[in-house]
Amino acid sequence: MTINPAQPGTAVALFSGGLDSILACRLVMAQGITVKAVRFVTPFFGYELLAREEDYRREVAAQFGIDVQLRDLSEKYLAMLRNPAHGYGKNFNPCVDCKILIASETRLMMEELGASFMISGEVLGQRPMSQRRDTLRIIEKASGCEGILLRPLCALNLPETIPEKEGTVDRGRLLAFRGRTRQPQIALAASMQIDDFPSPAGGCMLTDPNRAGRVRKFYEENETVAPADILLLTIGRQFHLPAGGWLVLGRNEGENALLAGLLQPGDIFLWCEESWPGPSAVLRRSAAGRDLEAAVELIKGYSKKGEGRERAVVLWQLYDG
Ligand code: SF4
Repeated sequence: MTINPAQPGTAVALFSGGLDSILACRLVMAQGITVKAVRFVTPFFGYELLAREEDYRREVAAQFGIDVQLRDLSEKYLAMLRNPAHGYGKNFNPCVDCKILIASETRLMMEELGASFMISGEVLGQRPMSQRRDTLRIIEKASGCEGILLRPLCALNLPETIPEKEGTVDRGRLLAFRGRTRQPQIALAASMQIDDFPSPAGGCMLTDPNRAGRVRKFYEENETVAPADILLLTIGRQFHLPAGGWLVLGRNEGENALLAGLLQPGDIFLWCEESWPGPSAVLRRSAAGRDLEAAVELIKGYSKKGEGRERAVVLWQLYDG
């Protein structure tokens, strides 16, 4: 890690990839401040970007003029999700603790990035749980970011931060957005010639009732949860087998291919004999493959009948990394 001396004119941005975070960066950059954006990813949001980080960075730079980097927060996030101090939202989404964790991690990066303060695209009152005035305060305090976390889109509704007091940021050029309406953001984007931006819902799996329900149940049933488990949990047909194994069947060719890429040492990969239409599968957490027979039968049940033969021939292999 390279340590850079803090520059008053450098900020690090908590970057979600959504419009609000793009606007927050651009608003501060318009004051001549260097912004280094960080997008945290976990298996619940943004994880697929890790496989194409360089392309993603190029796209964001070309489209919005923003210098962004990715950080994988999976391990700490999965630990936090088991028991978030501020509880869950409507589904299994720990929004307040998610923001505290992300702000804490960003603060820890300030020295590395030579930043003297942080910015985020939060808007007062935009979300019921995590963007109330009292919650914004809680996030600042719990993450150790009091006075250094500037929210440019709604700064005029909030107390002055240190970079404003010190004159690094001109408070007169910050905004007073508030509430759930998106119109001010859309108008601001238009004034900045930003016309192609992601939708606000922005794809956090933990706000989706079905997938969040699966994740919650998995946490209830397992003492340890790894990123690879979450990735496997969110695709295909899921089965609990009699001897405790966890079987996931692909529902189509795309999922079959994805499953093959999610294998972990100790998993058993199963597939139908070549040219036979049927699912591939991953069998995980099965002691010595004791559920193998049940897994093979399930795959046969979900495979199509072939010419001259009633049932698929299923092959399998232990994956050892
Ligand atoms: S919706 Fe998901 S990513 Fe956003 S704050 Fe909540 S838990 Fe975090």
